[in-house]
Amino acid sequence: MTLQERDKAHLWHPLTQHKVKPDALGITKAKGVYLYDEHGKEYIDGIASWYTCMYGHCNPFITEKVAQQMQTLDQVVFAGFTHEPAVKLSEALVSILPGNQQKLFFSENGSTAVDVAIKMAFQYHFNGGDKRDTLIAFEDGFHGDTFGAMSVSSLSVYNGPFEDFFLKVIRIPTPDGSNNADVVERLKQVIAENKVAAFVYEPLVQGAAAMKMYDLNGLQSLLACCKENDVLTIADEVMTGFGKTGKNFASEFLEIKPDFICMSKALTAGLLPMAITSCTQEIYDAFYDDDIAKGFFHGHTYTANPLACMAALAGIELLASEDVQGNIQMVVESHKEFDQEIKTHPKVAGTRQQGVIYALDLNIKMERYGNLRDMLFKHFMDQGVFLRPLGNTIYILAPYTITKKELEKIYDSIKSALDLVL
Ligand SMILES: *Cc1c(COP(=O)(O)O)cnc(C)c1O
Repeated sequence: MTLQERDKAHLWHPLTQHKVKPDALGITKAKGVYLYDEHGKEYIDGIASWYTCMYGHCNPFITEKVAQQMQTLDQVVFAGFTHEPAVKLSEALVSILPGNQQKLFFSENGSTAVDVAIKMAFQYHFNGGDKRDTLIAFEDGFHGDTFGAMSVSSLSVYNGPFEDFFLKVIRIPTPDGSNNADVVERLKQVIAENKVAAFVYEPLVQGAAAMKMYDLNGLQSLLACCKENDVLTIADEVMTGFGKTGKNFASEFLEIKPDFICMSKALTAGLLPMAITSCTQEIYDAFYDDDIAKGFFHGHTYTANPLACMAALAGIELLASEDVQGNIQMVVESHKEFDQEIKTHPKVAGTRQQGVIYALDLNIKMERYGNLRDMLFKHFMDQGVFLRPLGNTIYILAPYTITKKELEKIYDSIKSALDLVL
């Protein structure tokens, strides 16, 4: 029996209605930018497996470091103990984070990184004797699937069973350049009428909203308004972090730095699940007290797992390397050339790019998981390219290590896909 057949007995896949989507393709190995299925067919991983393995799959520089670490220290409780991989990672990460980020708190995935920031924000105010109960988020944001992260994400038909149990969140539109003043007014009004603890946002690019890019100055004004009103700012860089936007972190494009940054996905180069919530010294100091209850009593079992820390360290080393930085430039330029070629195509409604993130909207209305999406997905897979269209958007977010020739193959598959669209 194939993996695809055996899978059906016991496995329940994420984000899947199994009655409609009964089949999961068996993947047997991955190397560099390629995935290999159980029939031996290869696919370019055009979305770096949800933008995690940005240095290519099974990158030997990373796997060797992790394999070595495995022989030395596999796992230890991080409450009361510390270890070299975590200490080294803290030094390396703080050196590339925006300068105001000084303290790192570990968890296990992007959702928990956001939950940690939310809990810290509430407790920061609470510890100061100022109990607050409201969060602000963008209408079309995505921050994860745990309760806190889900609460600050956009509302969708999938939230139905849970909405009554959400945290108190007020949603505002993303600034698009033309509505900036209105959105700031709305924010001011929300802050005036509620006890707002924090504002949660994906800086510059909203991944799950089909790589929606919004106005930098608008965001800057919102952050300024938050600062003036003692509302903490939580930058969810789970998608944008580690070089994708053209800088190490999207927050670097903004003059006003956030109080928290949430990181996961590419943090560990796609090797192991881990997340970090960083924050300022000021946040940390609000928990530092003789009173034990003012501490942050939150912890996950695999906190700062040494193997995951080692993968993260190796990833940061690669990110800073000339090779990877040079290749990022190549990808950025290459996307720009492709954009020139494709943006006036009659079946393309619009295109956008931020760093190595490239997205194009098809000139067609369709359901997010409608038939066209399935047709496009199949087309790409037939062509040996793994892309995952979202709604009427096709986006590319390939590993930094991709070659020009491999990029061309992705572009060709998109060009031929446009012929399928009526
Ligand atoms: C993927 C993602 C998350 C959730 O991360 P998980 O590891 O899937 O829990 C949160 N925020 C953003 C911006 C993401 O892209």
